[in-house]
Amino acid sequence: MRLRYGLLALVLVACAPVDEEELVHDDAELGDSLPFDEGKADGYGVPASLGLDKNRVVYLTFDDGPSAVHTPRVLDTLRAHGAKATFFITGGSIAGNEGLIRRMRDEGHIVANHQWSHVIASSTQFRGWVTRERDLLRSIAGEMPQFFRYPYGAMASWKETILKAEGYLDGGVGWDIDTLDWDFGPDGVAARAEVPATYKRNFEGYVMYRMNQRGGGVMLMHDVQSITAQRLDSILTRLEHEGYRFGELPRRRAGFIGDDCETDDDCGFANGFCLGGVCTQPCTSTCPDRAGYPTTRCARLSDGEGASVQVCAQDCSSVACRADAAECVAATSPSGLARRVCWGL
Ligand SMILES: [Zn+2]
Repeated sequence: MRLRYGLLALVLVACAPVDEEELVHDDAELGDSLPFDEGKADGYGVPASLGLDKNRVVYLTFDDGPSAVHTPRVLDTLRAHGAKATFFITGGSIAGNEGLIRRMRDEGHIVANHQWSHVIASSTQFRGWVTRERDLLRSIAGEMPQFFRYPYGAMASWKETILKAEGYLDGGVGWDIDTLDWDFGPDGVAARAEVPATYKRNFEGYVMYRMNQRGGGVMLMHDVQSITAQRLDSILTRLEHEGYRFGELPRRRAGFIGDDCETDDDCGFANGFCLGGVCTQPCTSTCPDRAGYPTTRCARLSDGEGASVQVCAQDCSSVACRADAAECVAATSPSGLARRVCWGL
């Protein structure tokens, strides 16, 4: 694909406003399991697109944190076992815990998005929150979060469409094994009907029972739960003794606008393609930004023959363009204001 562009107009992509008025009670510490008699939400499962090997492989995931009280111990335990995990972080838990998020990253864990508030989001909320938490996690951890998990596994097809457009290539990531750690709680006694009587007071036994039913897969725990912080070392030891190993969700080359590329496959973000040796994207959504670079904007460009196309470009009004992949050109927005825009040609 080779086009020669002339810049026609600049179209800014605005974030949807967050509708705080629709916020309902945030019950992050109650875990993600829906009431047993209501069944699981549709699509709480693990996308096949991840291509996970679940044969005696456990993918550890911790939701609803970070917790200044419990997460450090969870991280200590993971380090002792040489196990990597994915932390699905609730946006409301970020403030004050930025250091823990950087520690997760530094110790090789995946920092992921568990929605800003732990509620079943409305359309307005969801659109605003996906971008809001993505941008905040990226500013703290220095990389785009690649994975998203719905509170309660509350998937919907319209949410999947938004996630994939925002760079979460697999949509929502659910779980195979629900440990019900929140239900066992601090007293270690489970109330949920699906916990067999023999395990009502045996959290670790229940975890192993469920794991052995499945033989491996993505395991749901919560690093805001004291029982999880206290028993994790024992659980990981038991898993190791029974021949399980700990896997990692696959990190992809999601890339960013402006990354060097040879083929479209090098531009793994949503709708990305390789143009003139640089990754770009049709301007149907917010562009995947790189930390430390200016926010990408959508610019409507056309080639010398008049055909138009929309690609993402960097607004370089305040920051210099990358010398190796972009050049600055003057552009005019629909309102008539001149801007300088980087584009990768
Ligand atoms: Zn949760």
